[in-house]
Amino acid sequence: MRGVMLHAPGDVRVEEIDDPKITAPTDAIIRLSATCVCGSDLWPFRGADPVDQPMPMGHEYVGIVEEVGNEVTTVKPGQFVVGSFVASDGTCEICRSGYPSSCAHRVFMSLVGTQSERALIPHADGTLVATPGMPDTDMIPSLLAASDVLGTGWFGAVAAEAGPGKTVAVVGDGAVGLLAVLAARQLGAERIIAMSRHEPRQALAREFGATDIVTERGDNGVAKVKELTGGLGAHSVVEAVGTQESMHQAMRSTRPGGHVGFVGVNHDVTLSGEELFFSQIHLLGGPAPVRRFLPDLIQLIWDKKINPGKVFDLALPLDQAAEAYRAMDERRAVKALLTV
Ligand SMILES: [Zn+2]
Repeated sequence: MRGVMLHAPGDVRVEEIDDPKITAPTDAIIRLSATCVCGSDLWPFRGADPVDQPMPMGHEYVGIVEEVGNEVTTVKPGQFVVGSFVASDGTCEICRSGYPSSCAHRVFMSLVGTQSERALIPHADGTLVATPGMPDTDMIPSLLAASDVLGTGWFGAVAAEAGPGKTVAVVGDGAVGLLAVLAARQLGAERIIAMSRHEPRQALAREFGATDIVTERGDNGVAKVKELTGGLGAHSVVEAVGTQESMHQAMRSTRPGGHVGFVGVNHDVTLSGEELFFSQIHLLGGPAPVRRFLPDLIQLIWDKKINPGKVFDLALPLDQAAEAYRAMDERRAVKALLTV
């Protein structure tokens, strides 16, 4: 089958790779309907993460089950499924407590790779959720978004305790940040401040429910959020970038007693213990437990109550994956979908 391999920073190739095979009775094999390029795929693409040997790429996926191991009971061949970017058994104590992305037996799908024609899904029962039926083609981007960026933005908003009466600020205007805005709206937030300098992204943020746009960054961005919140800071802040500047911006935009949901994959972020001590804020983040939210997110999409697929502003065939990476790297695209 064809699949995307990263040979070195900047060197994305679509080539013939081995077909997946069921090796554990809990495995499933799916035929991808669509996959996409994630902001976190750009870290090794840019050389910020090491590339020691050619690596399979991708961890977002939707598709049709082709084959299941003999212990799989919740999905069957022919069903359309959505899964999380972390495979989880769904049965260990960590999964049952709501944190399947830290499952005691987790498998990061980025190590398996899903930018390919087929993919092996470990722990199929704990990982995959079947849709109520076969989706129309125009619903596939939204279901694909649920697999990572929507689920991650949603976790950011939940971790930040977005809800009625709250002012929520979102740092980061990539797909996750934009979908954190959508999540905050769905969770009933009163005011949603999107921090973005890019006009098309601001427009999408407003469509998803942002009430205010702040274009300033860093200390100036913090000052602007404080100005909009009576000098106190936001109740809830979602951090969706993962850099030193964005973490500082998120923490310093949060009022004492407030909550930060940090879902940007952190790279070289250092926090001062003294600042943490005196900030008196709640911090919760990490790889989003997307599987916890998937059944609800799929239903919202199925009922056409949300349309998170709008974050895809570029769609290319799998064979043109290299161009999809370049477009996202150069910020010509918010998020690129790959049709398989
Ligand atoms: Zn588990």
